Amino acid sequence: MKKIAVIGAGTMGNGIAHVFAQSGFEVNLIDISQAALDKALKTIEKNMDRQIAKGRLSEEDKAGALSRLTTLTNMADGVKDRELVVEAATENIDLKLKIFGQMDELAPSDTILATNTSSISITQIGAATQRPDKVIGMHFMNPVPVMKLVEIIRGYATSDAVTQQIMEMSKTLGKVPVEVNDYPGFVANRILMPMINEAIITLHEGVAGVSEIDTVMKLGMAHPMGPLQLADFIGLDVCLSILRVMHEGFGNPKYAPCPLLVNMVTAGKMGVKSGEGFYSWGHGTKDLIVADTFQK
Ligand code: NAD
Repeated sequence: MKKIAVIGAGTMGNGIAHVFAQSGFEVNLIDISQAALDKALKTIEKNMDRQIAKGRLSEEDKAGALSRLTTLTNMADGVKDRELVVEAATENIDLKLKIFGQMDELAPSDTILATNTSSISITQIGAATQRPDKVIGMHFMNPVPVMKLVEIIRGYATSDAVTQQIMEMSKTLGKVPVEVNDYPGFVANRILMPMINEAIITLHEGVAGVSEIDTVMKLGMAHPMGPLQLADFIGLDVCLSILRVMHEGFGNPKYAPCPLLVNMVTAGKMGVKSGEGFYSWGHGTKDLIVADTFQK
């Protein structure tokens, strides 16, 4: 496999394109927004410069990787000769089903179609194509160039051969692939999101404050950051939508999102991306400050 495409040039798409290009693949990075593509290229260059400063990448390797990277707004041109397409567009089921229908028509019939979805059923996405045996989940973690794990999710119809091929190929990216089956939340979010939700419930019930909860989990469990800070990084809207998928998918009340999380998202408090969640962001230091407007 040499030629791949990435659909969506946001937070995850630019990281995925970065890692593939750095590993010697020819990458077409596709987005409907030219501004998103311009921003993605700048981010990739900045992140490669950071790798150079740490002695993990040479100037030559950076130039080589950038020369293998092409940005496009036209999906037809971007996928027509690709062996693998990794979709990393906005987390919205209708959008993903539409994109997979389009990719199925535009990409060669033997192209593997992967999705980086955090929570949407791979089986359902596969069913929107004529090749469900070649549809698979490649769930990269943020930030993609740094995080080693890729959850490889096989849908109900994904073939053994395609799963094996994607597992092996992920290792050539320097990642550690882990194969899992297609159930709501897969493995990573099925375990992580109930923990984050429980931290929010603990806060909501007044058992402890934001800093106290995060300190307990950081120092007591040796987590690199507390669950409320992590929720701010992931995006509170993203956490809410994953919990809703699990709640609906399993029909089990234990996954019901905490009303405080629902309220915060409704009020526009999404965490780092909106400037405020459980903490305030954008005050120019790395100090964690509990958001002024935060209320239980
Ligand atoms: P994002 O909002 O940063 O980027 C999404 C990009 O998709 C945008 O640039 C948008 O212009 C583009 N897009 C929308 N419709 C498109 C279309 N029809 N064709 C091409 N591009 C289109 O989102 P993100 O955080 O990078 O998330 C992308 C995917 O990765 C989602 O499925 C998300 O669940 C998953 N994911 C996110 C994280 C994370 O931490 N952000 C982690 C793991 C997985």
